[in-house]
Amino acid sequence: MKAVVVYEKGKYEVRDVPMPRLNDGYVLIRIKYAALCYRDLLQLAGYYPRMKYPVILGHEAVGVVVESRDPRFKSGDRVVPLLHEPDGTCEFCLRGLDSYCINALSYGESVDGFFAEYARVSGNALVKVPNEVSDELAVLVPCVIAMTYKGLRRAGLTQGETVVVTGASGGVGIHAVQLTKALGARVIGITRSLEKAKFIKQFADDVITEGTFSKAVKELTGGIGADVVIEAVGTPTIEESIRSLRVGGRLVIIGNVNPDEIYPLRLGYLILKDISLIGNVRSNKPDIAEALKLLSRGSVKPIIAATYPLDKFNEALEHMKDSTRIGKVIIKP
Ligand SMILES: [Zn+2]
Ligand SMILES: [Zn+2]
Repeated sequence: MKAVVVYEKGKYEVRDVPMPRLNDGYVLIRIKYAALCYRDLLQLAGYYPRMKYPVILGHEAVGVVVESRDPRFKSGDRVVPLLHEPDGTCEFCLRGLDSYCINALSYGESVDGFFAEYARVSGNALVKVPNEVSDELAVLVPCVIAMTYKGLRRAGLTQGETVVVTGASGGVGIHAVQLTKALGARVIGITRSLEKAKFIKQFADDVITEGTFSKAVKELTGGIGADVVIEAVGTPTIEESIRSLRVGGRLVIIGNVNPDEIYPLRLGYLILKDISLIGNVRSNKPDIAEALKLLSRGSVKPIIAATYPLDKFNEALEHMKDSTRIGKVIIKP
């Protein structure tokens, strides 16, 4: 089968590799779509010290079961894998917090991932996809929609609260805007581009294009500030994101477009504004299942920038870096 193999730090090629073999508890899936993510760029840039080489890149996929050695799945089941393979037995897994699994292996990093025609996946890592959810939407669930869902759940979002989404046209942002609306919030999208602002306006209540957006957020919220900010960019916007929050506001950190340290953060500011900073690693299986249920109602539309075949992986990566891109770049093997 064909796959995108990273064979040493920063070097990859599309090559023929043997079909994966199954042990008990594992399932062979035919990949219908696999999505590109900023993590792939950071991995190729060498920021992931635990990468094993060679490894098949990719951690976002939807597929169909073609062979199963796990009684929970049968041929023809449509499934999405978690971003990691949990052991299913550690104390976190037993508490439904598989994203913290102490023995987790990460797809596309410590175990082969999904930029391939087929993948071997542990049954512990799979969630079935309801018929109402399309493949194009399902591929976005584990790393984008369910991850945002988990962040908002941990932030304790309630109906009618105001949520700011930075990088609102990006792969995470444009879906975070829609999910947050579906959860009953008022949404303010942030972008620097007027062109992108027009697009985001289809889904968000307001869009701000100023670089120092906290002032505009304050104006839109009667001087109070936002209840929650979904930080989908990272270091370039985090200072303004924190300034946009009301007293007692919550910052959900998802984006990390570059791994630099952030500006000097004054703890007094966080203390006196009673601000919560919420990190966000992976999504748990229950978050994926709940997000899929919510999506069955048709409340979120997948925004796909382009679809590439495996052979054109290089072009897909270049498209990821294109600053005019709106939405996700996906691969159809
Ligand atoms: Zn991802
Ligand atoms: Zn575990």
